[in-house]
Amino acid sequence: VAGVIGLDDAIATVLAGCDPLPAAAVPAAEAAGLVLAADVVATEPIPPFANSAMDGYAVRAADVAGAPVTLPVVAEVAAGHPAPRALAAGEAMRIFTGAPIPDGADAVVMVERTERLDGGAAVRVEVAVEPGNHLRAVGEDLRPGDRVVAAGEELTAARVGVLASLGVQRVEARPRPRVGVVSTGDELVAVDAPLRPGQIRDSNRPMLLALVAESGFTPVDLGWAPDDEDAIADAFRRGVATCDAVLSSGGVSMGDIDLVKVVLDRLGDMTWMQVAIRPAKPLAFGLLAAGGGRRVPCFGLPGNPVSSLVSYALFARPGLRRLAGHPDDRLSLPRLAAVAAEDMRRGPDGKVHFVRVVAEATAGGVLAVRSSGGQGSHQLGAMARADALVVLPDGDGVAAGDPVEVILVGEPRSGALTSASAT
Ligand code: AMP
Ligand code: MG
Repeated sequence: VAGVIGLDDAIATVLAGCDPLPAAAVPAAEAAGLVLAADVVATEPIPPFANSAMDGYAVRAADVAGAPVTLPVVAEVAAGHPAPRALAAGEAMRIFTGAPIPDGADAVVMVERTERLDGGAAVRVEVAVEPGNHLRAVGEDLRPGDRVVAAGEELTAARVGVLASLGVQRVEARPRPRVGVVSTGDELVAVDAPLRPGQIRDSNRPMLLALVAESGFTPVDLGWAPDDEDAIADAFRRGVATCDAVLSSGGVSMGDIDLVKVVLDRLGDMTWMQVAIRPAKPLAFGLLAAGGGRRVPCFGLPGNPVSSLVSYALFARPGLRRLAGHPDDRLSLPRLAAVAAEDMRRGPDGKVHFVRVVAEATAGGVLAVRSSGGQGSHQLGAMARADALVVLPDGDGVAAGDPVEVILVGEPRSGALTSASAT
């Protein structure tokens, strides 16, 4: 086929059309999963005051140097309740985890190293401690001026927590892309409809909507369009009016009734690609004009379900992540080293093959992969069993024991990663 391009060129074509969405100030507590557009810098120290890391007794280290010693207990200091006065030489105060260290104290003796005397009026300290013992110093976690989250980083749960600890209420973030999904094809029926002769159920739409959600974007169901130019055009118009990107499946191969091609060429500025990969060779990408000068990236993904999924993972996901504000080196799924647990033969055809595999961690923590079943691009069963795709370069394939490169798909389910990290 004329105009076959490599995987990297196809990805580059997509990325060139996907610019980060404009950032806005949003409540930090609602920004989990969003990508920040500006650094967040600490303006306060964390911890904000010296406090106890243990339940025990606040003392002056010098007073317990000759342990065992007995000291009067002059107050009790709980979290949220500072001491009524400073600690004087030769005194102890009962203290609990998170409570402010009283002025005058410089160490905490954990309760396990003490004995309560006289109903709590005194304490026998059994060990000498260094100044600073079990004491959390001001700013030992974060200091004013420390960058706590950088522009381009995603707001994870831990980062949401750290922002709250600093009193940061709003952040500059890119919005979560809204991604429309439409299926095309006369043969398709919805999951709840009876199947007449020649019909199949629309599996791509729920699958792509789920992939969009799994990637952290907002899925928008644009429904189904028959093989009819006006119906397809209408779905894309609705899509670009309400979404930041649109994915269609079907109608992009070389056949006569591949109407998505016809319609998208009429509506916008599309690039038709034949990518040197298997599955997922045909791909359309381009920008359709929406109101207000907005140009919306549209992906024409192939109809075969496995091709549709692989195409999403290799092309749409990186483009959508770029809209979401992820930096260029974090757009594509990571590739990991693994070992083929069986022969994976293929012939030279100029294409990179993606083999659906089950991944299992061996006792040594090495990821071993084997075929998850039939490798046809219509065989969603093997895709559904797979944890990963082996990247099999052009050539004759690999033999059992050979190193391979894999792309993990979705969250690991086989225990591949969990058992690897547990060993
Ligand atoms: P097409 O690219 O439209 O020629 O479709 C290629 C193959 O994918 C055909 O076997 C279609 O029936 C199938 N297909 C297309 N769209 C879907 C879909 N949404 N769900 C399941 N199979 C589909
Ligand atoms: Mg079709």
